[in-house]
Amino acid sequence: MTNTQPILPALMQAAPLTDSLGRKVTYLRISVTDRCDLRCSYCMAEHMQFMSHNDVLRLEEFYRLATLFMRHGVRKIRITGGEPLVRKNIMSLFEMLSAHLDNGELDEVVVTTNGSQLSRHAEGLFAAGIRRINVSLDSLNADRYRLLTRCGDLSKVMNGLDRAQEAGLKVKINAVAMKGAFENEVDDLIRFAHGRGMDLTLIEEMPLGNVGHDRKASFLSLAELEKDLWSRWSLTPLASGTGGPARYMRIEETGGKLGFITPLSCNFCSSCNRVRLDCAGKFYTCMGSEGSVSLREALRDSSSDERLEALIFDAVAHKPHHHNFAMDRDVMQGIGRHMSVLGG
Ligand code: SAM
Ligand code: SF4
Repeated sequence: MTNTQPILPALMQAAPLTDSLGRKVTYLRISVTDRCDLRCSYCMAEHMQFMSHNDVLRLEEFYRLATLFMRHGVRKIRITGGEPLVRKNIMSLFEMLSAHLDNGELDEVVVTTNGSQLSRHAEGLFAAGIRRINVSLDSLNADRYRLLTRCGDLSKVMNGLDRAQEAGLKVKINAVAMKGAFENEVDDLIRFAHGRGMDLTLIEEMPLGNVGHDRKASFLSLAELEKDLWSRWSLTPLASGTGGPARYMRIEETGGKLGFITPLSCNFCSSCNRVRLDCAGKFYTCMGSEGSVSLREALRDSSSDERLEALIFDAVAHKPHHHNFAMDRDVMQGIGRHMSVLGG
């Protein structure tokens, strides 16, 4: 991605970011920290080495990059992590971005959070123009939740969900499916989420980073789980509208929506409109590929955006056609970077 000649700056004036397949980049996901107050077993190893504070971008630096992406067609920004709500002063980034919601340059700013800090931030998020959040919750059983997250307190998430809904935030629950208890818990999660007017999306475990367990052994195919669900629930497939990786069904008994994200068993790449920034300013055009380009030096070396734009346009021009995850009978092929670096 980095070896090719950057495109001439003159060609880039307010041009939309479009890759070699004609896919337009309209969605930027920013991981504002690699740190987290949990250690979910599918995401992190028990003992993690985090980046030094000097390497991580300041919130003003994220904001500068965000405005640059907006200039070239990004209309939606997701703030993620690590756990975004543990980042000091994180609300100031939401406040800076909210001006662009007000003036119509952005359609949406959304957040993915584990919910542990949500009770103290829910009102502030709503006040900054955030209307939708994703909360990750894999179990309603306090003991299993603690086991899965290695330290999490389910009651804090429940409290956070209460405050979020009271504040007016629309909540979607994300749950990673892993072999074991999940098959027995999924119906409870459906009833819980839909009973509170929250959509639920099931995510297949992706082989990102060494987390200390055998991914092959814990992998639960959502294609298999879906077959089970069809035998217990009345499911109606819904037309996809988001351009994202999820397929949605309506569950007639609850009236709620159930999403399936199956990166290993189904390919969503042909309509991919998203790019990602990690907390150190590395720019990734595909979550499922190793390739990235660092924007940090260009960001810190100059107040001019020219070099940054050249790097971004060049990377987008070389956005991979599809991701590199693969699964066969014997091997699960993944990549070395943990999910907490890029935020899913
Ligand atoms: N800490 C926040 C949270 O948990 O929602 C945001 C960051 S987290 C990395 C974003 C999403 O990635 C979460 O929904 C989490 O469940 C999911 N995730 C983490 N590791 C994963 C993996 N190996 N495979 C699939 N999803 C994963
Ligand atoms: Fe933290 Fe989210 Fe990763 Fe869990 S999934 S360890 S909450 S970053």
